[in-house]
Amino acid sequence: MIILVINSGSSSIKYQLIDMKDEKVLSKGLLERIGIKGSRLNHRKGDRKYVIEEDVPNHEKGLSLVLKTLQDREMGVIENLDQISAVGHRVVHGGERFANSVRIDDEVLRVIEENSDLAPLHNPPNIMGIKAAMKLLPNVPQVAVFDTAFHQTIPEKAYLYAIPYSYYEKYRIRRYGFHGTSHRYVSRRAAEILGIPYEKLKIITCHLGNGASIAAVKYGRSIDTSMGFTPLEGLVMGTRSGDIDPAIVTFLQEKEGMSAGEVYDLLNKKSGVLGLSELSSDMRDIEEGAMKGDERLRLVLDIYEYRIAKYIGAYAAAMNGVDVIIFTAGVGENSSILRREICENYLGYLGVKIDVEKNEFKGEERIISTDDSKVKVMVIPTNEELLIARDTKEIVEKGLKELNTN
Ligand code: ADP
Repeated sequence: MIILVINSGSSSIKYQLIDMKDEKVLSKGLLERIGIKGSRLNHRKGDRKYVIEEDVPNHEKGLSLVLKTLQDREMGVIENLDQISAVGHRVVHGGERFANSVRIDDEVLRVIEENSDLAPLHNPPNIMGIKAAMKLLPNVPQVAVFDTAFHQTIPEKAYLYAIPYSYYEKYRIRRYGFHGTSHRYVSRRAAEILGIPYEKLKIITCHLGNGASIAAVKYGRSIDTSMGFTPLEGLVMGTRSGDIDPAIVTFLQEKEGMSAGEVYDLLNKKSGVLGLSELSSDMRDIEEGAMKGDERLRLVLDIYEYRIAKYIGAYAAAMNGVDVIIFTAGVGENSSILRREICENYLGYLGVKIDVEKNEFKGEERIISTDDSKVKVMVIPTNEELLIARDTKEIVEKGLKELNTN
């Protein structure tokens, strides 16, 4: 069974074509600048890379170019579209309706559209991707895998904000959490690697990419996570502030004469690592400068690590203990300095002992704690596309409407 996985953004389509026989990625790529001058498709077939520059006005034309490329004699990996058995779509917001992956029909599409209110930047482009795929591959089953779904097990005490309850009833303002597919993938994978039942472990997963979030996964269920109503809450991120005193918003509006939208933009796009460093949102630049003795960049790294450590402490308390801490995504998988500093400077009281030598590597599955560490610390590269493909396969093969993933 060959499955196409699509992650459709406002001006981009990321894709992977996966052969589920051996879960091998046949091809993957990224189409950028849809609807903007200078659209380009970066396509990969094995180790070979191709760049196609062609104006792409909308998502349907974009997906059409991707499908054409996948069938191309030179660049392609399939002969015709009949070889694609199903399409799995990453969808950001499933709201309170979707706690699991689902087969897409008109009703599901309608609910995803309804949830656009909650994720105005993300759900509309996801819907464009789904509609394009439904049109271009009309007889192929389509499945939605939601970023929020894994966190639907979070209890009320952790998802309600202490604002008048009526706003929860009126607008569904609550913690949803994101990166659920990644937290689910790495936490399950940890249990597999350790050979301990998933249902017996207390796991803290740190997804540290451009966007970053942390989750408490107790006995196989997410019970809390740092992103909230939107992805803005929680950790310090590339360009997002994470937690701040909400009164700063109104203070800035008054002092700087900023509109609500301008403050929203400031906190989402100009804050975090970029805002603090006034240099870059990329952790590689921050680390390099900090190691060379730049005081400001050293401070940025300290703030970034401190916030993660505080959340680990909070979630160890929330679960009344922790067995495994996992680092994943761009920063978590690659930054040995950050992993070491967090473990050594803050987590000793939990019984965490990092093996400094084992920790010196990038981007592979590894246990980086010592054999006598009370808590296992692991690095597990995330693979959201594979989980989307696996859910899609199971739903299609078993003829399910909804897959019980929690
Ligand atoms: P996204 O959230 O966009 O999917 P990724 O998970 O790919 O992001 O993470 C991207 C981030 O990973 C980059 O912004 C960069 O800061 C960080 N990163 C990548 N490689 C390294 C490295 N070697 N050391 C530290 N940080 C890294």
